[in-house]
Amino acid sequence: MTEVYNWQLGRSMSYPYEAHYPEWQFAFVFNPNRCIGCQTCTMACKSTWTFSKGQELFWWNNVESKPFGGYPQNWDSKLLNMLEQANPGKQVWNISEKDPEQKPYGTFQGMTIFDAAEKQPGPEGPQAALGYLPTDDEWRHPNIHEDTAAGGQFTQDGQYGGSAQLPEHKVWFFHLARICNHCTYPGCLASCPRQAIYKRPEDGIVLIDQSRCRGYRKCVEGCPYKKAMYRPTTRTSEKCVGCFPRIEGKDATISPTGAPAETRCMAACVGKIRLQGLVKKNPDGTWADDPKNPLHYLIRQRQVALPLYPQFGTEPNGYYIPPRWVPRNYLVQMFGPGVDHAIEQYSCPDRELLAVLQLFRANQQIIFRYEIEEGPKVGELEVTMPSGETKIQELFNDTVIGFNKLGEEVVRVTIEEPTFERPAESHVNSI
Ligand code: SF4
Ligand code: SF4
Repeated sequence: MTEVYNWQLGRSMSYPYEAHYPEWQFAFVFNPNRCIGCQTCTMACKSTWTFSKGQELFWWNNVESKPFGGYPQNWDSKLLNMLEQANPGKQVWNISEKDPEQKPYGTFQGMTIFDAAEKQPGPEGPQAALGYLPTDDEWRHPNIHEDTAAGGQFTQDGQYGGSAQLPEHKVWFFHLARICNHCTYPGCLASCPRQAIYKRPEDGIVLIDQSRCRGYRKCVEGCPYKKAMYRPTTRTSEKCVGCFPRIEGKDATISPTGAPAETRCMAACVGKIRLQGLVKKNPDGTWADDPKNPLHYLIRQRQVALPLYPQFGTEPNGYYIPPRWVPRNYLVQMFGPGVDHAIEQYSCPDRELLAVLQLFRANQQIIFRYEIEEGPKVGELEVTMPSGETKIQELFNDTVIGFNKLGEEVVRVTIEEPTFERPAESHVNSI
């Protein structure tokens, strides 16, 4: 094991390989506040990449209803339990020392999947990452507990604490859309005894080399998000490929000039909850200062989007804007201690944040830079904040402009949705 720095944990941690960082990193922000659970993303991925024999249960993109749903079933609570057993009562964050660059969420003091594996050798000796192999039954029901709510008469008093006050709801669920996080320190890659898994230096996409894979399923065991899957017909494992031809700009129907396009799941999203990007990395793995990149703005500058289970330690590159109505302690366990700050900002976004939020699913090309043209004031809203205090949100009809990797303008969105009034004369299809 070597020591690598994980900025999401605010500390160094053990990892089996020395760190090598890509030039650009595939990353995305999902906004569960807007997800309607329509599964269009799921089917866009399925029909593009996983339609053959042996791939029937491959849902590289899935959308599960939390808190009860999960694919495979209970993937997260099982691993959280294993980590708690490895380090009882100590899986906690110290939020007293924060630093926007090095430790924006404070310091995680507990054990990651790599720390826990090192300290707790199993029957086969020390593993690279703490994990488990789901049973066939757990893989069998991709959308179990769809739209099943928690709380209300079904919850014991105080189970999630604090859920009696708005905007947290007494009865709640939310849709959690998931794909491979193309982690900075992938658990799948760490666990593979054949070194068949690699992270591409150009964009950080994590792939399994099918010619090297022997189907030992160690990646399935070692991915904390359970996004590596075993295919019995070929006896190899497969995973989300990040739609790499689109990222390479090979789809001329989207960009005739060869600029990178969003993945299929992102481009198909009906609820406009997804914003994909590529973030520039420095050679030491830190994020390059790129203040007008929308992902850099949402994740690093405003911290309105947070990593999924950062405590697992893989430094996932998928980020989520936490759903406002869900009990806070549930969210803190899932997204770390930045939840209150993120929800506070999302509840009453200022001018720039509101403009950047319009870029979600605005174009199929990946937006590398945005600019804002200021418009006139068009209204005011009274907003009740999570703390109960009220704020006045001023609304301006600003225009946000998105540019692709080549610096070409690809999208222009205004805050006020344009309306078109049809002329009064009758039309062929009018009643
Ligand atoms: S989410 Fe899982 S499969 Fe994807 S890179 Fe991370 S550890 Fe590997
Ligand atoms: S397409 Fe978008 S809105 Fe529909 S389930 Fe997927 S992430 Fe949610």
